[in-house]
Amino acid sequence: MTAVSEIVLPVTFETLGLAAPILEAVKAAGYTEPTAVQLRTIPEAIKGRDLLVSSQTGSGKTAAFMLPALQKLTLQHEKPGRGPRILVLTPTRELAVQVTKAADTYGRNLRVKTLSVVGGMPYPLQNRMLKNGVDILVATPGRMLDQMNSGRIDLSRLQLLILDEADRMLDMGFKDDLEAILAKVPKTRQTMLFSATIEPSIVRLANSFLHDPLRVAVDTAQTRHVNIEQRLHFADDMGHKNRLLDSILGHPDMQQAIVFTSTKRHADQLAQDLHGKGHSAAAMHGDMHQGARNRTLQALRRGGLKVLVATDVAARGIDVQGISHVINYDLPMQAEDYVHRIGRTGRAGRNGIAISFASSRDSHLVRDIERLTAQKIEVSVIEGLEPKMRAFSKPAPRGARPGGGKSYGKPSGAPRREGFGGYAKRDGRPAGRSPARTSPYAK
Ligand code: AMP
Repeated sequence: MTAVSEIVLPVTFETLGLAAPILEAVKAAGYTEPTAVQLRTIPEAIKGRDLLVSSQTGSGKTAAFMLPALQKLTLQHEKPGRGPRILVLTPTRELAVQVTKAADTYGRNLRVKTLSVVGGMPYPLQNRMLKNGVDILVATPGRMLDQMNSGRIDLSRLQLLILDEADRMLDMGFKDDLEAILAKVPKTRQTMLFSATIEPSIVRLANSFLHDPLRVAVDTAQTRHVNIEQRLHFADDMGHKNRLLDSILGHPDMQQAIVFTSTKRHADQLAQDLHGKGHSAAAMHGDMHQGARNRTLQALRRGGLKVLVATDVAARGIDVQGISHVINYDLPMQAEDYVHRIGRTGRAGRNGIAISFASSRDSHLVRDIERLTAQKIEVSVIEGLEPKMRAFSKPAPRGARPGGGKSYGKPSGAPRREGFGGYAKRDGRPAGRSPARTSPYAK
């Protein structure tokens, strides 16, 4: 199984390799940019790779498999016939209906016949429809096997098999049905397995039926980042931010950092300033050519570059294991971006540290982030670099429980105080799980 390697990902649907009629349908659906799972899966799926994808409902996973499936249908099949070229297996009828709808929506500019074969549907009608021929078949495993066993479905033309919500299919007891179906599909087909969780049973299924799959993991805002310690520093002004940054970058725990700024110009300028101060630093943003971005990324991966100063778009998808710190020099305007940003550290099961600088105007940004992640960001100070500003109060995030864990603890009256430029190791607790404290600056 191959892991996803770091790549600078394209950020528009146009760059994913989809045909014009599909792009038009996507546009008509009102989508302006691909979601994370779509970015990662669509180009690889179009290349014909098998994929093992962990992603949740709501992540845009249906389009992540349906768009490349439709793309396949834009190419002629060498074999005439009426059997499906695409088969999607889903755990429930409801999901099958949703997937069928998605096929109709994204395939509206193509001549595609989609049919769902689910339990509860009268057989005569289903049989008639199957006879008429189908391109995309969406089915629940039980009824699918029924129809296969009665010889009504010709699978010899099948090119792509998609298992949607595979973990739920196993939970619902469809394992034997699934295996019986999988045993009868052509060996040459491409397979994509989507599952909310990748448990051992899913890995076994993937090992038996997928060919060297690319593993793609896309989590939700709430489930991610338990291995990332999040801290908030109140910063009076840019000078204060720069001093905090110097101190953090100078700490011995620092291996490599991505520093986020809100503008490309500022990214360039800050990278230059840091370079001037003796840090090996470079900028990365959307105005740079792909070649330059790739070279910068390569330097980061090889460890020659210590600090990458980046904007959101440029840093999306970067997967470099040496990134020990993510520093939000400026907080993102969108809370979702915060989640993407801090996910650049704590890769491959390591711990990471995410530090955000907040000015007095940023209270609403912090509140939005804490609401989205249902986690509190602990306020920290570095000795000698205490803020003068009166910190805004931070209401408990929605869904947070009093007490430890990812929630607000009882006010202790003091922020975490670090030694000069340093961060004391926590007393054996995993990162991000220490009792939270409120700020004395808070009103
Ligand atoms: P799913 O995770 O497939 O259940 O999709 C969740 C919702 O996101 C559906 O209502 C889709 O219509 C919508 N959706 C999928 N992709 C995008 C996108 N790129 N931009 C905006 N909405 C999307």
